[in-house]
Amino acid sequence: MADISPIRLVIHGGAGAIERNKLTAEREQAYRHALALSLITGHAVLAAGGSSMDAVIAAIVVMEDSPLFNAGKGAVFSHAGRNELEASIMDGATRMAGAVAGVTTIRNPIRAAHAVMTKSAHVMLIGQGAETFAAEQGLEIVDPSYFYTQHRWDQLQKALAKESVLRDHDADSSAPLPDVDEKRGTVGAVALDHHGNIAAGTSTGGLTNKRYGRVGDSSIIGAGTYADNRSVAVSATGTGEVFIRTAAAFNTAVQVGLQRIPIAEAADNTLAEIAAMGGDGGLIVLDTSGNYAMRFNTSGMYRGTIGNDGIAWMGVFPETVHS
Ligand code: ASP
Repeated sequence: MADISPIRLVIHGGAGAIERNKLTAEREQAYRHALALSLITGHAVLAAGGSSMDAVIAAIVVMEDSPLFNAGKGAVFSHAGRNELEASIMDGATRMAGAVAGVTTIRNPIRAAHAVMTKSAHVMLIGQGAETFAAEQGLEIVDPSYFYTQHRWDQLQKALAKESVLRDHDADSSAPLPDVDEKRGTVGAVALDHHGNIAAGTSTGGLTNKRYGRVGDSSIIGAGTYADNRSVAVSATGTGEVFIRTAAAFNTAVQVGLQRIPIAEAADNTLAEIAAMGGDGGLIVLDTSGNYAMRFNTSGMYRGTIGNDGIAWMGVFPETVHS
């Protein structure tokens, strides 16, 4: 195997109002452990000469299978009491992309996004059609109850109660829920393989108490996910609507690719634009030389990275700056 390019994997497990006093040492350890498992699993793919695309899938599947993250098992509940999942993936070498949204029975939506990319003529499939396609492709289909976790169910009940309080006293029932961290969270990965190719992927359950078939940025190519070998691979987490309106992932890639802005600065510029429009969140960014950034304008972002040395680094709060 021609070992010409450095390898790198960067992941996030969601950004938000992560409160230090609410995050017990035990719970932080659990997150760090899950992040480490995701990093080591993805790294094994890269170290064996596998593609950045396969590393992104491997890393995300670990987080989708963990009840800690708002993706796959552990996804939040919609207003109707369902887990409506979405995911997207993009290959920087070919700029092929795939996405699914509004799916309730696909165990690993990131695999379905990849199947859409590689086995269909389309970029995005939604709802039942996406589920039928995933089943035809031999992906694991589960009963919707697989996604149930008590913690997320309780969060929905809390969200519903808060809304009804709002409705009682305030005509504006669209007012945001106060506890940001409890209604958000997403997972994502960007990777660089030995062949010098980058890829990005993102997977989420979206927002607690979302309605009307709401879809966020995580399954939108250019918003939550983007990859182009000529610039960067990006995965986002945050207030989805604003990330869509700012084309956050593509916006970041364009700054690097066309304006030659350093990647951390490009991510910060995008986040500043998002903040100016009332949003917040984080971005992980990686280029074909192995330069990377993990930036966020929330109180915390679950995140981590691993390179050629195979040593996993994980962080939650800002002071543990790594790049
Ligand atoms: N971006 C996700 C969404 O809007 C949520 C998150 O990343 O926290 O669905």
